[in-house]
Amino acid sequence: METILFLSHTEPDGALPRAALEALTAARALAQGTKGQLVLGVFGAETAGAAAQLAGAGAQRALAVTSPELAAARYASDAAAAEALARAAGATVVVAPSTSRLARVLAGVSHRLGGKIDTHATGVAAQDGAPTVTRWFYRQRMEATLRRAARPWFVTVDAGTQPAFRAEGAAPALEAVPLALADAQRRTRVTGFRAPEAQAQTIRPDAKLLFVAGAGWTKKQADGKPHLDQAEQLILGFLGKAKASLGSSKSMTDLATEGHGVMGFMTHLNQVGQTGSTPRHAKGLATCCHGEEPHVVGWRFINERRAVNLDPNCGWARGKADVVYVADAFAVMEKVNALLASRG
Ligand SMILES: Cc1cc2nc3c(=O)[nH]c(=O)nc-3n(C[C@H](O)[C@H](O)[C@H](O)COP(=O)(O)OP(=O)(O)OC[C@H]3O[C@@H](n4cnc5c(N)ncnc54)[C@H](O)[C@@H]3O)c2cc1C
Repeated sequence: METILFLSHTEPDGALPRAALEALTAARALAQGTKGQLVLGVFGAETAGAAAQLAGAGAQRALAVTSPELAAARYASDAAAAEALARAAGATVVVAPSTSRLARVLAGVSHRLGGKIDTHATGVAAQDGAPTVTRWFYRQRMEATLRRAARPWFVTVDAGTQPAFRAEGAAPALEAVPLALADAQRRTRVTGFRAPEAQAQTIRPDAKLLFVAGAGWTKKQADGKPHLDQAEQLILGFLGKAKASLGSSKSMTDLATEGHGVMGFMTHLNQVGQTGSTPRHAKGLATCCHGEEPHVVGWRFINERRAVNLDPNCGWARGKADVVYVADAFAVMEKVNALLASRG
């Protein structure tokens, strides 16, 4: 019988990240499908807050490693905590969210336990009672379903692929799992955080909308001149009001990052496409972006797509968007921002 361990770290306030609640949905489905037992395992400086979020998950056991040494992400202590939980659970399959903290340590943990790992899973299921994992390869062009005989089998689940688990009922009692750290495992110290200014944080994976800015924003407009300041104001104004996530085309990213002095808030991390990211927002709006295939391939998981382009023959108009507004994006976004402002 499989023992499925749901594994996650907590946030500094003791709660689980949203991605963890999605991974829990996958772990529960796997336990049901394989008729296995479900064990929950959390680690962090605070874990009590997580218990309420795990209520009603139907687990046989709920384990926690709680230590001030786990307040900040650190390879040695995070790996030791994950290892302790996997051993205490006797896990044969470990399902964890693909957060940066876990993505960093779990390959090492699986190696220590003599197991195997598959990352970026988008689906976890049981076929004929055996666990299977679905993931994409070759920049989201091919989807494969995998089985493995090796145990323990670690699987990290990508955020945005599963519905988040909703707690119901009484919180489970957390069974404490001891963590013994040697001095060498405590050597790295986190002395502080340096984060970009709030305005510069334009990538928001949990936003409802992806707003893509293409190179058209920097091009000469009807009056024969580019309007970069206005473009920046319109884009930042919309992002601030709609709380949308900012994506860009490669042409736009290249202009912004190669010292052309435009769109200082844009980095290569905003780039969507074949050589960029493949975000998972429910809706997307492309502006001043042509909709060429190497860009649109990054929209694979965006279900509702709209575009604003002056060109009625742009790529979006060729079956790549649900709605194309053949219009001047400067005028459209000015109107949209005014409407959003009037709603408060
Ligand atoms: C190997 C390879 C990998 C690549 N990977 C990527 C990738 O990961 N991501 C990516 O994006 N691209 C990628 N590309 C590049 C891609 O093919 C395109 O060159 C790029 O996406 C074009 O960016 P764009 O649409 O912003 O710019 P442009 O092609 O310059 O299009 C600008 C658009 O803005 C419109 N426009 C201008 N003014 C306005 C206005 N006022 N209102 C409305 N519309 C307006 C124009 O009509 C035009 O359609 C790759 C290419 C190759 C060869």
